[in-house]
Amino acid sequence: MGRVSLRGIRKRYGAVEVIKGIDLEVEDGEFLDFVGPSGCGKSTTLRMIAGLEDISEGELWIDGECANAMRPADRGAAMVFQSYALYPHMTVAQNMGFALKMAGVGRAERDEQVRHAAAILRISDLLDRYPKELSGGQRQRVAIGRAIVRKPKVFLFDEPLSNLDAALRVNMRIELGRLHDQLGTTMIYVTHDQVEAMTMGDRIAVFNGGVIEQLGTPMTLYKRPANEFVAGFIGAPRINFVDRPPADASGQAGATAAHHALWDALAAPAGAQRAGLRPEHLRVTDAAGGVPASVELAEHLGDSSILHLRVDGVAELLHAKVLAASDPIEAGQVVGLVADPQWTLGFDAGGKLVP
Ligand code: ADP
Ligand code: MG
Repeated sequence: MGRVSLRGIRKRYGAVEVIKGIDLEVEDGEFLDFVGPSGCGKSTTLRMIAGLEDISEGELWIDGECANAMRPADRGAAMVFQSYALYPHMTVAQNMGFALKMAGVGRAERDEQVRHAAAILRISDLLDRYPKELSGGQRQRVAIGRAIVRKPKVFLFDEPLSNLDAALRVNMRIELGRLHDQLGTTMIYVTHDQVEAMTMGDRIAVFNGGVIEQLGTPMTLYKRPANEFVAGFIGAPRINFVDRPPADASGQAGATAAHHALWDALAAPAGAQRAGLRPEHLRVTDAAGGVPASVELAEHLGDSSILHLRVDGVAELLHAKVLAASDPIEAGQVVGLVADPQWTLGFDAGGKLVP
C-alpha cells in the first residue's frame, strides 16, 4: 500500500543542486525518520514526495505508481507541518473535515471521519472550538487529525513538534508512536533532533549536504555509524574523536606519552587513523589508574555529570558521561581515564568506519 521509492532523486534551484541523488525504499507501514542538520535537504525531499516541489531528476514511486507527474492531491500523501496552518475562522471539526468537503464527500460521512479521527487523537471534546481557543499541543493534534481523515497511504511530517515545549514534545512523541501502531500507515518524519529520531523511527536516514550518509535502525547508527559524520551526529554529548598519535621512535615524553597512552587504551582497529568513543564509554578513576586528564569543566545534571577533559597532546577536549557520585568531580582536578574498548570505533583517513 504505502510503499515509497526514491530513485536517483535530484533537486536543482537554478544552477544550485541541493538534493544530489537520493535512493531510498520506504517499506509499507514503516516509520522512517529523516534526520540531519539544518539545510541538508530534509524538507525539500519531503516536499518532492508530497508534490509541493518539482523533481529535477530521478523517479518517485508511491504504491506501485510513478508519481513524478501526479498532482499532490492524487498521491495519497498527507503532510503535517511545524506551523499548524489551521483556518482561524473554522472550528476544529470544520478544519478537520475541510479537505473531505473539498473532495465532495457528503456531510454524514465527513462527520463520521472527523469523529473517528478526533477519538484517536483524544480531542473529541474540542470539536466545536476555534483554533485560538486551543493550546499549541491541541492545535498540532488538529493538524494531525486533518491528515488522518484523508486516509493517506503515507503521512509526511515536517518537524511537527518543534513549536511545542520539551515536556509536550515527549508526550507527542509517545502519541505519534501509538498513532503509528494503531493506523499501521507509512510515516516519514523529518526532524533535526537526533533524540526524536532515535526514539521514534523503525529506521533513520541521516542526511548531510543533499545526500543520505546512512540508512539504518537507531541502534545500528549508534553502534556501527558508517562514517565520522553519522558518528558525530547521533548521540549527545557528541562522540569523542582521537587522532592516531604521530609515530615517535625517539622515545615518548610529555604530551606525546599521554596521547600514546590514550590511543593504546582505546585499542582502535588496525588501519584506523582516528578512534571514536562515546562519552558514556569513558570512565574516570583516580589519576594513577588511567590516562591522566585534567577536568576543565564539570556539568552536574543530578543523575549524572558531563566532564570536559584535557589530555596533554590531544587536540580536542574529551567528554565523559559519568554517574553522579557522593563526592563529585570538579573542575581543576586531575583524573585518570579508562576506556571501554569494546565500544571503540575506528575511522580511516577518509572518515569511513574501519570494519
Ligand atoms: P532542511 O529541511 O534539511 O533544513 P531544506 O530542504 O529546507 O533543508 O533546504 C535544503 C537546501 O535547499 C538549503 O540550502 C536551502 O537554502 C535550499 N533551498 C530550499 N528551498 C529553496 C528555494 N526555494 N530556492 C533556493 N534554494 C532553496
Ligand atoms: Mg526543514
